[in-house]
Amino acid sequence: MHIDSPENKALVGLTAAEIDALFAGFQQPSYRARQVYKWIHHYGVRTFEEMTNLPKPFRAELAARFSLQTLQLATRQESIDGTIKYLWQLAGGQHIESVFIPEERRTTICISSQVGCALGCAFCATAQMGFLSNLSSGEIVEQVLRVQQDTGRKITNVVLMGMGEPFLNYSRVIQACRIMSDPEGLAIAAKKITISTVGVVPRIRQFADERQPFSLAISLHAATQPLRQSIMPIADKFPLDDLIDSAVYYTRKLRKRITFEYVLLDAVNHSLADARALIKLLAPLKCKLNLIPFNDTGLGFRTPSESKLKSFVDILEAKAPFAVTLRKNRGNDIAAACGQLYAQSAADEKPRFIAAKTKATGMV
Ligand code: SF4
Repeated sequence: MHIDSPENKALVGLTAAEIDALFAGFQQPSYRARQVYKWIHHYGVRTFEEMTNLPKPFRAELAARFSLQTLQLATRQESIDGTIKYLWQLAGGQHIESVFIPEERRTTICISSQVGCALGCAFCATAQMGFLSNLSSGEIVEQVLRVQQDTGRKITNVVLMGMGEPFLNYSRVIQACRIMSDPEGLAIAAKKITISTVGVVPRIRQFADERQPFSLAISLHAATQPLRQSIMPIADKFPLDDLIDSAVYYTRKLRKRITFEYVLLDAVNHSLADARALIKLLAPLKCKLNLIPFNDTGLGFRTPSESKLKSFVDILEAKAPFAVTLRKNRGNDIAAACGQLYAQSAADEKPRFIAAKTKATGMV
């Protein structure tokens, strides 16, 4: 199969209007742009030859000028539980990752929005890379397209919770989400696309003001400001009270539920006092709490034992006025936590890379 040259400008992740502007010199009717947009995003073709409702000479011209992909597969690891972790190489040589999680009734993909991350959460492998760059909307959308092609399964749920903070790449993330939810694009229900932020307060308010149809999750991980500050430096800039105010603003303005993610770190955030503080903090909100046992990344944190997890969940289930779920860890045998595959491959191939970035950015 012919794959178009990656040096050409990629059309994936562009709107039909943006594609139309690029086609200005071709003397083709303007509906060609929408046809191409639909072939790329709805039908997921990987060559211009497959766009059979375009004139053949036009397909050849497009193949000479444009490309349909930006990602090269670097590593693919499949877990015994069916979870698949992908490491992609971008045109500039940097790497990002995506995780495919199949379940009986749905298929979820966790995708990246940035290369590395500037926010330095103490328990996160990606934080060690520092921030390298923002992904384009095409690089975000293509993660979903390529995993659909690889697995042969339609993705039903997307979570922007891979590498990076999506709200620090706001406009490209929103454009990617619009293409993913467009019936002529990837046709994934907007409410099944979740943007997960660690708490960039102005962007949460903007997201609410714009009445974005996508779901919102906040990675909370601590129920008090001092604890949150100790593991998540973003709490210095956007304190917990401001974060909760913005969450209340979102839930009231959109009349939608918000999901709070809470990673359980042994001996850090799962005491009786933590449970009480969590209930007090979230009780006024229309929300759901998703507890996530820490996936050991070797950064000095551990997963709490089963009995500790159970006691924490039991207290919350008995006393919390909101829904509480405990997520089953998937893909433990393939390092499926945020940033882990990249960290592992970088450690194997170029051990100095992470050390250099960590030092340069002052992160964890
Ligand atoms: S948890 Fe998310 S926001 Fe925090 S450092 Fe990792 S990628 Fe960045």
